[in-house]
Amino acid sequence: MPGKTGILSFWVGGEPARKWATRSPQERIETCLQVMEVMYPGCRADSLHAESYAWGADPFAQHAYIYHAPGYLTQALPLLREPEGRLYFAGDYLSLFVGYMEGALESAENAVNALLARYNSPDGSANPSRD
Ligand SMILES: Cc1cc2nc3c(=O)[nH]c(=O)nc-3n(C[C@H](O)[C@H](O)[C@H](O)COP(=O)(O)OP(=O)(O)OC[C@H]3O[C@@H](n4cnc5c(N)ncnc54)[C@H](O)[C@@H]3O)c2cc1C
Repeated sequence: MPGKTGILSFWVGGEPARKWATRSPQERIETCLQVMEVMYPGCRADSLHAESYAWGADPFAQHAYIYHAPGYLTQALPLLREPEGRLYFAGDYLSLFVGYMEGALESAENAVNALLARYNSPDGSANPSRD
């Protein structure tokens, strides 16, 4: 960032995030400022603005990052990547870059390529519009 100001991000994940989500944004910000003050004494006075958002409490998201359980990559992932009839799935959770836009794009590309391959199959018998 140009200039003398900057942005600091605080992340809380997993079980602790559920607890933090029950607090108000102002309470969460206050806790962050207290932690920051311990690490960088005096920095609280330099803080210009703060925002806090609990993705777990967002009804359309219901979570932020996914942490896979053991076995997900080897057992669940190959199955989840399979289309269900005419339905093709895409999302960062279907890639190896879970939790990143790169993974979402990679997954979308795979789904579109699979659809195109089906659509362009030589005899057209796999054309999804005929299913
Ligand atoms: C706080 C935060 C910070 C992040 N920072 C970064 C970063 O710095 N760099 C990075 O690469 N990635 C970052 N990510 C991750 C990145 O946002 C995701 O990897 C990416 O958005 C996933 O894209 P997606 O298309 O798989 O899913 P999403 O972007 O989650 O899209 C899914 C969409 O489906 C909608 N939806 C859900 N259920 C329904 C339903 N039943 N009907 C209709 N619509 C529905 C949702 O509202 C949403 O719009 C961050 C994520 C969070 C939460």
